[in-house]
Amino acid sequence: MDFSDLNLIDPLLRALRAEGYQQPTPIQRQAIPHVLAGRDLIGCAQTGTGKTAAFALPILQRLAAEASRPRGGLRVLVLSPTRELASQIGDSFAAYGRHTGLKHAVIFGGVGQQPQVEALRRRPDILVATPGRLLDLMGQGLVRLNTIETFVLDEADRMLDMGFIHDVRRVIAALPVRRQTLLFSATMPSDIQDLADHILVDPVHVEVTPQATTVETIAQSVFFVEKGDKRALLEHILGDPTIRRALVFTRTKHGANKLAQQLERARIQAEAIHGNKSQSARERALANFKSGRTRVLVATDIAARGIDVDDVTHVINYELPNEPETYVHRIGRTARAGASGTAYSFCDADERAYLRDIEKLIRLRVPVAADHPYQSPLGLPAASAGQPASAAAPTRQAQPGSPRRRRRRRYNGGRPQT
Ligand code: AMP
Repeated sequence: MDFSDLNLIDPLLRALRAEGYQQPTPIQRQAIPHVLAGRDLIGCAQTGTGKTAAFALPILQRLAAEASRPRGGLRVLVLSPTRELASQIGDSFAAYGRHTGLKHAVIFGGVGQQPQVEALRRRPDILVATPGRLLDLMGQGLVRLNTIETFVLDEADRMLDMGFIHDVRRVIAALPVRRQTLLFSATMPSDIQDLADHILVDPVHVEVTPQATTVETIAQSVFFVEKGDKRALLEHILGDPTIRRALVFTRTKHGANKLAQQLERARIQAEAIHGNKSQSARERALANFKSGRTRVLVATDIAARGIDVDDVTHVINYELPNEPETYVHRIGRTARAGASGTAYSFCDADERAYLRDIEKLIRLRVPVAADHPYQSPLGLPAASAGQPASAAAPTRQAQPGSPRRRRRRRYNGGRPQT
């Protein structure tokens, strides 16, 4: 299937050609016709699946169809949980909409509001916002949402995790009742389902299971190591020059800073990115990582959410997350838009329960890298003892149709089993 089979207009097709996109992704194939038809929609998909274009393209097309009507204020609102994701969504509207003449603005907290207020004065058609700054500007009478025709709630589950759900409800209360609503979420916990039941009218459900695809294309392995040896193991691993661009995850902001400094001292170019850094410091770190100036970006989960950097060759879980879904989000950073990648996880004695939860969720035993110099003397945990495997025998080498592969296909994106 081609983008033109989705009845997209020429200005959008030209922009997509310039982006180098050949074919729509599954979420785009499923969502675009319904959004074009004006339906409400629930999309179960995470970043990396092409979901931004899945909503941005049909929204731009609907706006372009009525571009000649007199401008009467904002027409589209996209709510995003993080600044990084908001600016990436803004960039996507700019890229896909470059031949439409439609305008967008992006607003988020942590930076001065004046440039954003000026951007709002230029009468954008589309506003991409994080909830806090939006409410702030609404309170000051600088943004009015009474002309919104389409509302997109992106990464709804992350909004919930970050404690934004009340802010989201306040924003929704200011929207016109008659509107098109699109809700995207990687997982569908019951709170999100409740919210969806209240804000969507007769929605279409579309679902892609990127986690399964992602998990399949990523070579994963786990390194059993004592806590005190993790840094030495990381430096040892980073001795491999094929690790060109590595995203390393720590649990805490302090841990991210400390590790980045230690790596720098070991002459490994590294920077930390987390929520305590200023917006400009985050942007700088991201730009350095994108350009290849920084080889290792040490990140916490919230800062990394939505980071869209192509060619991350390795994701390294310096500490395992306590929520298994987070593992899937993290390792998905190394397999953007169908590329393959490698994910290493360090697991100390205290983290074995986390590893068990992850393996339960992905329905896959993560192969054990047994050939490294910092092997934990505690030995392999009982759960993995029967099946040691080296990092050279990664998961993606499972044969098609093997029991392992069949098991993996059943992974349902972390939603509760029914
Ligand atoms: P998203 O899920 O929206 O964060 O998109 C993930 C990445 O896929 C971004 O880098 C997009 O530029 C890219 N992308 C989106 N749609 C396509 C497509 N149809 N073909 C190739 N790349 C795409």
